[in-house]
Amino acid sequence: MHRFVLAALALCVCASPLSAQAPTPTPAPSTTVIHAGTLIDGTSGSPRRDQAIVIRGNRIAGVGDWTATAKPSGASVIDLSGATVLPGMIDAHTHIFLQGEVPAEGGYDAQLLRDGLALRAARATVSARRALEQGFTTIRDVETEGAGYGDVGIKQAIERGYIPGPRMFVSTRAISTTGGYPLEGYAPELDMPKGAQLIDGPVEARKAAREQLSNGADWIKVYMTHRSWVGEHGELVSQPTLTVEELKAVVDEAHGWGRKVACHAYGGIGLHRALDGGCDSIEHGLDLDDAAVTQMVKQGTWLCPTMSVYYMDWPPEGTPEGDRDRKRAAVHGPSLQKAVKAGVKIAFGTDVGGFPWSQPIAQEFPRMVEFGMTPMAAIQAATSRAAEMLGMAGQLGVIAPGAYADVVAVRGNPLQDVKALGDVTFVMKDGRVYRGAAAAP
Ligand SMILES: [Zn+2]
Repeated sequence: MHRFVLAALALCVCASPLSAQAPTPTPAPSTTVIHAGTLIDGTSGSPRRDQAIVIRGNRIAGVGDWTATAKPSGASVIDLSGATVLPGMIDAHTHIFLQGEVPAEGGYDAQLLRDGLALRAARATVSARRALEQGFTTIRDVETEGAGYGDVGIKQAIERGYIPGPRMFVSTRAISTTGGYPLEGYAPELDMPKGAQLIDGPVEARKAAREQLSNGADWIKVYMTHRSWVGEHGELVSQPTLTVEELKAVVDEAHGWGRKVACHAYGGIGLHRALDGGCDSIEHGLDLDDAAVTQMVKQGTWLCPTMSVYYMDWPPEGTPEGDRDRKRAAVHGPSLQKAVKAGVKIAFGTDVGGFPWSQPIAQEFPRMVEFGMTPMAAIQAATSRAAEMLGMAGQLGVIAPGAYADVVAVRGNPLQDVKALGDVTFVMKDGRVYRGAAAAP
């Protein structure tokens, strides 16, 4: 893992002042004009050639044809005329406090048992920067895996300008039930730390939601399924966790605060409880049945499929874990295809952290295209659609007047080859350049 961290440090993130004292933010140029060779604006169905994006402070003031747009006097110009320009992308399922689950490094458990919170926070700082460098200017981080409210602290450090990183929507500790989350498999006499806040009963569920919301959770993350295995008929079986009543207490509380609930659910009983309980997004949803798809369309539930993480680190075939992992991947693709066909709302998410942050976030795009999404639909899932899920439609994930100036550029044409989204050459967040050419006067 450490070689990956060094690689990340070598990348240039030059705009942020790094000092031990409260930094003085560098004021963004009052007006900047980006010359975009090709513009994919996040909402339109087709790209536009040779566009001007006028930015004032941290907001987009206007977008138009390059030749027809008046350049304000004194404006700085950023030449991206040879690139494809897009809104800053959104990964709606990350874990900055998780550093992969590499067995050789002790897997998941070692991170909770061995790594102190300061070490985990330091590594989370690198994770956040990695997201930004790859053009992900916003993340929804769906729980800290035993690191408490650390995500709130990292978010504050980014907002106050101490460290570079994306805009963060955080969900703090997450909620599951007794028997519903690791650490597991230790002597029953031992009181082991858990990766999530465990509750039993609607009263405890509501109390956990209140605690998390009062400590800064933007979303509540709930685990509605836990273990999974291959059943006697060769089907994937997932153990349900919270009851509908428990989940309803969480959802009712979160909605009262104007917040939303993300439910980890694979399929079966737990998935249906998640939908009956009124969750706002299904995470993974790798084994959606027809009834679930119909209910998601009816209720407007989002799907955050996180495909690529399920294609990694399979144990040997013929072992229970190896067969389970192959089964999960085998049902996941058809499940996404079914959802796409039925018109389920889809937000891009990767589960990065579940795999090492050294790996590219953009590897998710080819998987989405492989299983039924057009490149444009996949791009919109990572821009305007994810923004809509976050309650930020028109503010994030779009290049249009009034939106935050979160702008990225890639080499090549992602509509022809969606892998081009992994080749980010320019990142602007909130009107400030974090990667690529600085503005020329
Ligand atoms: Zn996850």
